[in-house]
Amino acid sequence: MKWKSNMQSSTKYIFVTGGVTSSLGKGIISASLAKLLQARGYRVTIQKLDPYINVDPGTLNPYEHGECYVTQDGAETDLDLGHYERFLGMPTSQANNVTTGRIYQTVINKERRGDYLGKTVQVIPHITDEIKRRIKLLGSRREFDFVITEIGGTVGDIESLPYIESVRQLKWEMGDTNTLVIHLTLVPYLSASRELKTKPTQHSVKVLLENGIQPNVLVLRTERELSNELRKKVALFCNVDFESVIQSIDVSTIYEVPILMQKEKLDITVLKKLGMNYEGQPDLAPWKNFLKRFQHPKYTVNIGLVGKYVELPDAYISITESFKHGGAVNNCHVNLKFIHSEDIDESNYRDVLKGLAGILVAPGFGDRGIDGKILAAQYARENNIPFLGVCLGLQCAVIEFARHKLGLKKAHSTEMSIKTPDPVIDLMEDQKGVTEKGGTMRLGSYPCVLTEGTKAFKAYGVNEISERHRHRYEFNNHYLKDFEKAGMIASGINPDNGLVEIMEIPSHKWFVGVQFHPEYRSNVLKPHPLFIDFIKASIS
Ligand code: GLN
Repeated sequence: MKWKSNMQSSTKYIFVTGGVTSSLGKGIISASLAKLLQARGYRVTIQKLDPYINVDPGTLNPYEHGECYVTQDGAETDLDLGHYERFLGMPTSQANNVTTGRIYQTVINKERRGDYLGKTVQVIPHITDEIKRRIKLLGSRREFDFVITEIGGTVGDIESLPYIESVRQLKWEMGDTNTLVIHLTLVPYLSASRELKTKPTQHSVKVLLENGIQPNVLVLRTERELSNELRKKVALFCNVDFESVIQSIDVSTIYEVPILMQKEKLDITVLKKLGMNYEGQPDLAPWKNFLKRFQHPKYTVNIGLVGKYVELPDAYISITESFKHGGAVNNCHVNLKFIHSEDIDESNYRDVLKGLAGILVAPGFGDRGIDGKILAAQYARENNIPFLGVCLGLQCAVIEFARHKLGLKKAHSTEMSIKTPDPVIDLMEDQKGVTEKGGTMRLGSYPCVLTEGTKAFKAYGVNEISERHRHRYEFNNHYLKDFEKAGMIASGINPDNGLVEIMEIPSHKWFVGVQFHPEYRSNVLKPHPLFIDFIKASIS
């Protein structure tokens, strides 16, 4: 029987699907809608369902799906979760990202335990039931008025089918006032005929209809303004109200999208359909204030981002966004120069890095490009250029310092050189017996106590912080005294196990390396203090 009103919980479920092509920005639309609802005082969270078979993206090369985002509870997740946190300023968790691999793993484990009592285990109902359970999990906590579930992939893909079927069932079970489907498509412009084309949208909606889902709202990505006539046509052929045809035109920054969606009344349309109060306006004043600073900077600085995945900017998206947030606080546009660490060597590093106001050495794994990263740290140190080393970036700075200031010519990390006589970066004790790759790093939030008077302490303005990790190697405390004597100090230490979290050079203008990932915690309304101070130092 259909639930007339949602008796068990008042949570409303909004599903966001995509059609025509991938990369239309479902994550940004989901995050923008969530922002509008949040700015009206509603409690919202966003979840991403990914139709691939990896249990999580932790083992994926960044070239595959971009950055792996880490939540505070230590889940390795899709980069869209980063957008959710940056827009909403609220933490997500493992429950916010589920892959097909994880769904199957759960079902197969249950089967092995004998939970299915001799039944044949099938995609329908067992896989779809597990998908539905994962969707409802966030709602069952009663912490949210809305759970927005973004379905990865494009409708029509074989992999997406169980998800679409689960959405169909949930819609049927919970009814139209508790569920809503937003379908995002593309309206291409054909320059030869100077026309915007709606046929791909019509076809994509047909695919959804074949799978038993009538979308309630259509969001159309477009390069040009859509006329009312075109909107009417889409409404008529796709069976939705005129107000439910929403335009999402290209903009220069993703942070403008909530404002655009507000103009298009996406929030009002959604609230009306779900029978929720839609009076008044969302309070977007702080958001608009950020946008104003971001779009009208007083200064520009060139900061180099040295990494080995620079061909694909998505691989460093949280870092890129952190520079936008921290830049706005400083009224500064950070002109990020992506520098491939494999392009830097002894013969050219001065030329390549010349003129940069700041240098960030990026996180990473393995030895490809490591020498370029070490040279970048050396150049920043020797030339008093503000430096931020993130995870592997810190480790490179430590190796460089050991080689040139401690005279340990062969110092290295045992990740790159297992036989180094001076393993200044070494495998963490609890990693030594670990052979499996998936989900086995030091992951998620750990506490760190800061030393008063240091640059790190000045940036944060507090004694104890908590930051997110994703690594196997650490600073080797055996060498700490020698480092401190030579002028590189530990300014942040994990109070529980003594692991070094932050190293810095007090005599340098601003040289800070962190074992954690500050970029995962920066968001639009709460930019990260280390990025703020790093940019500030680069401007002055
Ligand atoms: N490869 C390094 C380690 O595992 C650094 C990891 C990172 O930069 N996230 O310790």
